[in-house]
Amino acid sequence: MQELQGIAVSPGVAIGEAMVVDNEGFRIPRRFLARDAVESELERLDKAIAAATKEIEHNRDAVSEELGKKYGAIFEAHLLMLEDAQLRGEFEEMIRQRHYSPEYAVSRSLRRYAKVFEKLESQYLAQRANDIFDIEKRLLRNLLGRRREGLSHLTSPVLVLAHNLTPSETANLSREFCLGFVTEIGGLGSHTAIVAEALEIPAVVGTGPFLTEVSGGDLVIIDGDKGLVILHPDEEAIARYRHEVEEHRSLAARLETLRDLPAETADGVRVQLLGNIEFPYEVDHCLNRGADGIGLYRTEFLYLGAESEPDEEVHYQAYSRVIKTMGQRPVTIRTFDMGADKVAHLPDPQDERNPFLGLRSIRLALRNLPMFRTQLRAILRASVLGNAQVMFPLVSTLLELRQAKMVLADVMEDLDERGIEFNRDIPVGMMVEVPAAVMMLDHFADEVDFLSIGTNDLIQYTLAVDRSNKDVVGLYNASDPAVLKLIAMALETGQRKSIAVDLCGQMSGNPIYSMLLLGMGLRHFSVSPAAIPEIKKTCRSVTLEQCRTVAGRALVMENARDVRSYLKEELRRHVPELAL
Ligand code: PEP
Ligand code: MG
Repeated sequence: MQELQGIAVSPGVAIGEAMVVDNEGFRIPRRFLARDAVESELERLDKAIAAATKEIEHNRDAVSEELGKKYGAIFEAHLLMLEDAQLRGEFEEMIRQRHYSPEYAVSRSLRRYAKVFEKLESQYLAQRANDIFDIEKRLLRNLLGRRREGLSHLTSPVLVLAHNLTPSETANLSREFCLGFVTEIGGLGSHTAIVAEALEIPAVVGTGPFLTEVSGGDLVIIDGDKGLVILHPDEEAIARYRHEVEEHRSLAARLETLRDLPAETADGVRVQLLGNIEFPYEVDHCLNRGADGIGLYRTEFLYLGAESEPDEEVHYQAYSRVIKTMGQRPVTIRTFDMGADKVAHLPDPQDERNPFLGLRSIRLALRNLPMFRTQLRAILRASVLGNAQVMFPLVSTLLELRQAKMVLADVMEDLDERGIEFNRDIPVGMMVEVPAAVMMLDHFADEVDFLSIGTNDLIQYTLAVDRSNKDVVGLYNASDPAVLKLIAMALETGQRKSIAVDLCGQMSGNPIYSMLLLGMGLRHFSVSPAAIPEIKKTCRSVTLEQCRTVAGRALVMENARDVRSYLKEELRRHVPELAL
C-alpha cells in the first residue's frame, strides 16, 4: 500500500481500477482477450517488437555516424533487452495464461523491471529505469499506433491517473465511466479542478510523479476530501473507505430534504444561493438541489477544445437552454474568460511568460471584437427567454469596463436596426477579481448593475500566487487576512452604494467560510451545484448574530493559519454534521 498526498479539488471518495494515461497521453488498456484472439495478439506483439527494433537500430546508426560508435552503443542496451527471449517469454505468458492485452502485458512487466532499477542505490543504475520506460513507450507507440484511444471513449468504470489533463480533456471525460481522477501536476484553482467539480467526481491534483508506480487495472482509492491517493490499498483501507462512501451517501440523503426549503439563516435572513456552471446540462443539477438561479455561467467552455470558433447559433442554443430551464430565476452569463492559447482559431500568442497577467479574458475580447460581438448578440437574443444578466470578467480599469459596455450598446443598436428582439434593460455586471477593481469599486459601482467577487483570481492577484501551480499551493489561501480585507471592502462598497454583490469564487462553496461571509454582509453565494446543499445547511444552522461575532474575530487575525483553524472550529461547533 502506498499513500500519496496531493491537493483535494473535488470532494468524495472513489474506489476502483486504475487507468493510467502517461506523459504522452497513452491510455494503457487492461483488456482481457478472448481465447481465440491470443494468436493474433501475439502476432501484433511481435510486429511491434520488430518495428521498435528497427527504430532503435536506425537511431543507433544515425547517432554513431554523427557522434561516433561510443554514443551509438547506448542503443545497444535497448536492443539487447528487446531481443531478450526471457522478456518476450514473460509477455507471452501473460497474454496466453492471463489473457492480458499485449499493451497491458508490456507495461506491467517493464514497469516491474524499472521499479527494481529505481530502488538500486547506485545513481547510475537507478537511471537505467528511464531506459526501460523508454522501451515501454516505444512498444506502446507501436502497439497502439493510431488506435490510441481518447479519454472520452471509456467503456468500463475506472479511475483516471494522468500526468496532466487539460480542462477540455477533463470536460470530455465520460461521466458514466470515469469515477474520479488524479493528476501529477495542477493546483487548487486550475480550471481542470473546476471542471472536476462540474462533473461531480472526486479528484486530486498535484501529487507529484507517481505514474511509474501503478499499472492499469491496479486497485486505487481517491479521497477527494483530504487530497489522498492510495495505491494498492490493503483490506483495512478498503473497508474504511467503503464506510466513508456510505457516510457520504447518507449525508447527501439527509441534505436532500432541504431542497425545497429557502436558503436563510436560523433567524430568517434570506440568502440567495446560486449555482456556478460550465455546461448547460448542469442547470438540472442546480434545479435538483434547489438553486435560486445561476450566478456564474463560464461560457469559455464553449470554445475549449472546439476546432473552430463557435458561431452565434451555438452560443444561442446553449444560453437558451440554460435561461429557459431556469424560468424566472436569474442567469448570469459571463462573457468568455480565457487566454488566446485556448482558442484554436486565433493565432498562437507569443510565448507569454506570465499568461495570467497577459492577453486574456476581457482584454482578449476587446482585441477580438467580431468574436466578442458574436457572443454578445447571442446573449442579447436569448435574454428575452427569461431572466438573463451579462457579466464581464477580469475588469481592471474603468476604461476597460466602459469599452466593453460600448461594444454591448453597439450590438444592441445593431439588433434594433434589424428588428431583433432583446431585453434592453439586461442587467450588466462585472467580476471583481483584481485588487485594482476593489480599490476603484466606488467608481465601478456607479456604472454597473451588480458585482461578483471572483476569489479564485482575487487570491492569486493579491498574494502573487499562481492558482494552478502545485509548488506554491500552500501560499494560495482564501483565509489570508489581505484577501479577507479586500472582500470586506468590496462588500462594504456594495452596501454603501446599494448594489448587489455576489461571491462566485470556490471559497463561497466551502462551508468553513459561510459564517464569516454572512457576518461580513454577503447575501449572494454562487457555488458549484454539488455544494448547494451543504451551504444551505450551514446558513440554516446559524444566526446572523453568531456570524457577525465570527467575522469580527476573524477579521482582526494576523495570519491565514489562525483564521482557518478558527473558522473550522466554529463550523464544527455550529454545524457538526459537516465538519471534516
Ligand atoms: C474567480 O476567479 O473566482 C472566478 C469565479 O472565475 P474563474 O474561476 O473562472 O477564473
Ligand atoms: Mg476568475
